[in-house]
Formats: sequence, structure tokens, C-alpha cells
Amino acid sequence: MQPVRAYIGIGSNLDNPVAQVQRAFQALDDLPACANIACSPLYRTAPVGGPPGQPDYINAVAALDTVLTADDLLKALQALETVQGRIRAVRWGARTLDLDLLLYGQMTRDDPWLTLPHPRLHQRAFVLQPLHDIAPNLTIPGRGTLTELLASGPLQAIAPLEPPPATG
Ligand code: ADP
Ligand code: MG
Repeated sequence: MQPVRAYIGIGSNLDNPVAQVQRAFQALDDLPACANIACSPLYRTAPVGGPPGQPDYINAVAALDTVLTADDLLKALQALETVQGRIRAVRWGARTLDLDLLLYGQMTRDDPWLTLPHPRLHQRAFVLQPLHDIAPNLTIPGRGTLTELLASGPLQAIAPLEPPPATG
């Protein structure tokens, strides 16, 4: 099988989210049958939906070249979520790690277990912006180019994560 370029959306808002996202980058790099091609900068985002009062999210996107099928890649992502302590309780509730399969090549698929492209990708600034950072010329099947989607607004404000202040 020829490798397929896949894009993974990463989010965390529990238990040191920056470290969770960095650990996820490493775990994706270590996945069998996958080569990690790029990691986006990190962004801080206010939570969308879910129960009130949850902490801000840290979001990023990674690109992989993989010979796993789309189904096997999603299973691998869910296993990584579990390894990093995700407990599925409330929909859109706080989580240590959320890994969404945003795109698997140009595959389109409408299945509740795996919808491609990810069904909310085109509405989410915290996905579109980091995706644009690592793949500015990408087209989202059925939705248009990233540039068009980012310009189509209004999208939620997101903030690039400041590096922590130097100590000492
Ligand atoms: P959310 O990411 O919307 O907060 P979850 O991570 O709990 O919610 O995922 C809910 C379900 O969405 C999963 O059981 C998974 O099978 C399904 N799903 C459908 N399409 C995708 C996709 N492209 N990427 C990840 N999960 C998906
Ligand atoms: Mg998810």
C-alpha cells in the first residue's frame, strides 16, 4: 500500500495540557507504520460546547504518512487517548487527550464511527489555523481550500501559545 498523508487534530485541557500535546506528538511519531511529517505550533482556545466551567484547551495538528487503513489509524488514535488517561464520560467534556482524524488523504466517508473529513473541521479555528500552519495549500474535500475556510469567518479567536517566561 502507498503511504497516505493523514492529519490528526490534537486537544487537551486536563493534567498539564501542553505536556499532553507534546507527549501525543511523540506517541504519533512512535506509531508503527506511520512517519510523523510535521507538528504545528500550539494554540490556546476557550472550550466550545460541553459542560460549563471547563479549562481552556491546548490544540495542535500533526501530519503523518501512514500505511495503516483509516479504520486502523482511528483505532490506534483511540488507544493513544486511553494510554494518556482519557476517560470518556460527558460528550465534549474535559479530557487529557482528544485525537481526531481530520483527513485521510482525500477520502470521504459518512459513517458515525469514522466520518471523513472530520465533520466539524471546517468550523473550528483551532483546527483550521494549525492545519494551515503545516499545510497551507490543503483542500478539504467538499469544503474548499483552507485559505477560503479561514477567510469565510466568523471563527472563534485562538491564541498562539506563548513560550513560558525564562526563569533565573
Ligand atoms: P469529540 O472528538 O467530538 O469530542 P470523541 O473524541 O469522544 O468526541 O469521539 C466520538 C466518536 O466520534 C468516536 O467514537 C469516533 O468513532 C467518532 N468519529 C467519527 N469520525 C471521527 C473522526 N474523523 N475522528 C475521530 N473520531 C471520529
Ligand atoms: Mg475526538
